[in-house]
Amino acid sequence: MVFTFSASPSIDLRQIRLDIRSLQADLVAWRRLIHQKPELGFKEQITADFIAEKLTEWNIEHQTGIAKTGIVAIIHSDRPGKVLAIRADMDALPIQEENEVPYRSLHDGKMHACGHDGHVAIALGTAYYLAQNRQNWSGTVKFIFQPAEEGPGGAKPMIEAGVLKNPDVDAIIGLHLWNNLPLGQVGVRSGALMAAVECFRCKIWGQGGHGAMPHQTKDAIVIGSQIVNALQTIVARNVNPLDAAVVTVGEFHAGTALNVIADTAQMSGTVRYFQPQLESFIGQRIENIIAGICQSHDAKYELDYWQLYPPVINNPQITELVRSVAMNVVETPLGVVPECQTMGGEDMSFFLNEIPGCFFFLGAANPEKGLAYPHHHPRFDFDETALSMGVEIFVRCVEQFN
Ligand SMILES: [Zn+2]
Ligand SMILES: [Zn+2]
Repeated sequence: MVFTFSASPSIDLRQIRLDIRSLQADLVAWRRLIHQKPELGFKEQITADFIAEKLTEWNIEHQTGIAKTGIVAIIHSDRPGKVLAIRADMDALPIQEENEVPYRSLHDGKMHACGHDGHVAIALGTAYYLAQNRQNWSGTVKFIFQPAEEGPGGAKPMIEAGVLKNPDVDAIIGLHLWNNLPLGQVGVRSGALMAAVECFRCKIWGQGGHGAMPHQTKDAIVIGSQIVNALQTIVARNVNPLDAAVVTVGEFHAGTALNVIADTAQMSGTVRYFQPQLESFIGQRIENIIAGICQSHDAKYELDYWQLYPPVINNPQITELVRSVAMNVVETPLGVVPECQTMGGEDMSFFLNEIPGCFFFLGAANPEKGLAYPHHHPRFDFDETALSMGVEIFVRCVEQFN
């Protein structure tokens, strides 16, 4: 599909900015309410209830309970046109918050440490503004409030539930508040933005015995160590050096005593890459290496290997729309940077595999205010000034999409 975008909107951009900035206090209030009540994947009921309450208050048509806690809202403008979807994830993480702020998490052991509370607030602000100003834009906007981004993934079940149909969505945009970029910068990149995420778990059966009599055993620790070392050669020797990839063994458990040779060893890890053709390649190499080393030691193994999320691949045309819009919002060409590729993963990729779209990073770090901890850190927090910037980028994308 080829998209044509309206180059010069007939509306007063300064007025839009003023209107959106006047929402800032509400955006902060909503974000802090959600922040105080973080919920894990597929359990975002309080969050969903809050979203539904706001949509009802603003007379916005919506459906709840999609893929357990997901919500889809639809706003029609006064004129016909294409359908653009805006996606926001809703879930928190199993982390104990260490921030001493008035809006600190009230749920022990749970925290919005990735900024999804802000994503919900930005989507709500965008929905509110678009519903109040239907004369300013054309077509239809569909809001997708998605559960369980942090795992096991809510995008796929929402697609399976039909959220991209009726009406059919032409393109999708989404953002991530991003503490790897300072407030005032936006990371927009065509093509691969975030990596595919695959996982594995492996158990090795050797033969245990006395630490002083190794000839009577098959040492699961020696076999497992050789596997961990050999797995490093996949990225170093098998993957094209121009293609980025990661193989990380994050867990290794074996042994019970210093004078006992371990009977079994268990390891687990994660694989990341951008190029879709590496999808079957790296997993196959991992299996071959494990099988080969186990065979050479007469040991047995069991390997579980699964794909969690595909890579996040942005469509060039929708990316160009977001890039030009972001340039106007941050008001400096240096504010929009392409250097934002990360080996982190995101299940926004499932939407982008179905329809064209763009996922982008909205800089939210402010070291001067002590707001620069990385995502998933117990002291993670972001500069809330980014909230109205996010709304402004979404609103202007909607206005220029048709
Ligand atoms: Zn996260
Ligand atoms: Zn996230």
